[in-house]
Amino acid sequence: MGLFSKDIETLNDLFVHQLQDVYYAEKQITKALPKMIEKATDPTLKAGFQTHLEETEGQIMRLERVFEMHDERPKAVACPAIDGIIKEANEVAGDIADKAVLDAALIASAQAVEHYEITRYGTLIAWAKQLGRNDCAAILKETLDEEKATDEKLTSLAETTLNARAENVPA
Ligand code: FE
Ligand code: FE
Ligand code: FE
Repeated sequence: MGLFSKDIETLNDLFVHQLQDVYYAEKQITKALPKMIEKATDPTLKAGFQTHLEETEGQIMRLERVFEMHDERPKAVACPAIDGIIKEANEVAGDIADKAVLDAALIASAQAVEHYEITRYGTLIAWAKQLGRNDCAAILKETLDEEKATDEKLTSLAETTLNARAENVPA
């Protein structure tokens, strides 16, 4: 864009920018999840992260479809928010010795990621609809539903089992 204009001028530009942002975020998440799978001890948690890694690969493909439907080449722009959430997750995990406490921390970190995604996809769907792209909104909604389901599974795993296990670790 030129010297006197900004890159984002219209709601459509903003929509595309947000798609690029979440495209970057999903790619970073596919790099972060294998490390979380490795660190997790509880088999249900490990399996949940594995399932979500596979879902995330599908979500990247959905975003590529939305880019194409919108006549845009798939492109990623840095998302400092997801970089920060992942950095924080790594820092906290690196400070925890006990495996049960680490599992509780991994759940909390993963939920921070899911909540970021939920807010972004919620906005993208609203903008897609506003722009008359219900077709794009429907695809993005499939991903939003996966993020919400993952978040709920993590809540239930924490509240039924893993938080209590972490509490019972001798100090
Ligand atoms: Fe995702
Ligand atoms: Fe972002
Ligand atoms: Fe997710």
